[in-house]
Order: sequence, then structure tokens, then C-alpha cells
Amino acid sequence: MQNPLEKSLPQTSVVGACTVTDCKFNENHECHAGSIEVRVSGNGAECGTYTPEGNTRPRP
Ligand code: SF4
Repeated sequence: MQNPLEKSLPQTSVVGACTVTDCKFNENHECHAGSIEVRVSGNGAECGTYTPEGNTRPRP
């Protein structure tokens, strides 16, 4: 059992699969952005790094 006073190390997560196929970072349902920002809105969590193909700026 882990010591409750011990701080856990930062975790790196990986996007397992992404269904947003019109994003320029999506290749065969895999994210190649390197890192992403997750935002929470009224619709729930969404990817803040999403960038439509042909657009060079991420979603505001
Ligand atoms: S940046 Fe976001 S929307 Fe685009 S492929 Fe990666 S996880 Fe999907």
C-alpha cells in the first residue's frame, strides 16, 4: 500500500484514440499533437488543441 504522505509523481497521459478525424493532428485515429489541452465547458470536456485541417490556429 502506498504511503499517504508520499507525493505521487506527475503522470504523463497519452491520447489513446481520437474520433475527431477533421483535426489536423489526427492520423488514423491517433493524436500526433505531442501534448493537448483539455477544457471543460457546458458540453463537458473538449480538446482545446483541436485544429481543423487547413487552419493553423487552435480553437479559441
Ligand atoms: S488535438 Fe485533440 S482533437 Fe486533435 S487529434 Fe489530438 S486529441 Fe483529437
